[in-house]
Amino acid sequence: MKKRIGLLYGGKSAEHEVSLITATAVTKAIDFDKYEVIPIYITLEGEWCRGPQLTKPAESVDELKFTKNVSNPNYILEFILDENDKQAKFDVIFPLLHGTYGEDGTVQGLLELLNLPYVGNGVLSSAAGMDKVIMKQLFSVAGLNQVPYVYFIRYEWDHQKEAMISKCEETLTYPMFVKPANLGSSVGISKASNREELEKAINIAFKYDRKVVVEQGIEAREIEMAVLGNNEPKVSVAGEIKPTTEFYDYESKYKDGSTKLIIPADISPQVEAKMKDMAIRAFKTLDCAGLVRTDFFVRGDEVFINEVNTMPGFTPYSMYPLLWQKSGLSYPELIDNLIELAIERHKEKQ
Ligand code: ADP
Ligand code: MG
Ligand code: MG
Repeated sequence: MKKRIGLLYGGKSAEHEVSLITATAVTKAIDFDKYEVIPIYITLEGEWCRGPQLTKPAESVDELKFTKNVSNPNYILEFILDENDKQAKFDVIFPLLHGTYGEDGTVQGLLELLNLPYVGNGVLSSAAGMDKVIMKQLFSVAGLNQVPYVYFIRYEWDHQKEAMISKCEETLTYPMFVKPANLGSSVGISKASNREELEKAINIAFKYDRKVVVEQGIEAREIEMAVLGNNEPKVSVAGEIKPTTEFYDYESKYKDGSTKLIIPADISPQVEAKMKDMAIRAFKTLDCAGLVRTDFFVRGDEVFINEVNTMPGFTPYSMYPLLWQKSGLSYPELIDNLIELAIERHKEKQ
């Protein structure tokens, strides 16, 4: 019997459009002989709309946009919760959402409550991976090498600005990287080379979050690895990012296509082994499931973990699927694997 997959995408997030592109790509790769695919679109306003079953790949992102009252009147939550409706049963939900309300554990919590198997990380690992401060604190307990950092909340910044600046300058040297604690896609991140820029960067970051992290800036290569699995996670080959801008910012990630991905990355076997070990340890530390992309800074032989992304970019041109492709796993095979892992993990919890 075909498995019924709920493809969950869109979302109330800055990465809404990216999610639509990913969903379109997944419909092009998924095996319709094996799966019944039901699109579930979350609009930018946060409305959940269920589209009609897909029987062939979507030609464009517009085909995957639905509205509550126009093309289909089935509101997904009411639908899922309607136990009398056999049609409402999903075998697996495949969330293709990034950022807030997608990658941060909130959607995962909802799916847990609904007792539905879903692809990827659970509530805890999603939330911990989303908050850069919590993530760093956990990495530190696990003994993973990372750059020095400080953090504070908006209240502290508003009331003790001088003390917070001193905290940065006593622990770190310029340049520093200032980031909102709970975002991705480089949104709200700036590099500060002096006190004036630091103040400006902190003010920018506080527009996005009530908590800000200030990190030691380093000159290093950016190399990433993909992890796939549950209890026995596997690690892909490494891939290097070569941004042509000053750092890997939002524009270079999604807009101008100027960033080069070099897969496999040209690294020594020692560095590769170190990264693999750190990628697995990070995965286990955050109690991850399904998939994670682990990002490193590499300077000479020294490896620093930068972050994990619990729902990494997933278009066929994104680093995560490309790393697996170069490791011998095609995009459709990767989708199959992730669905199987979701079912396995759900069974384990019962
Ligand atoms: P996001 O979760 O938004 O991707 P990152 O922490 O990965 O945030 O930062 C985005 C980019 O900023 C990185 O890919 C890198 O190019 C640059 N960057 C971040 N932190 C540092 C740092 N400490 N030193 C040097 N570059 C950094
Ligand atoms: Mg990130
Ligand atoms: Mg990043």
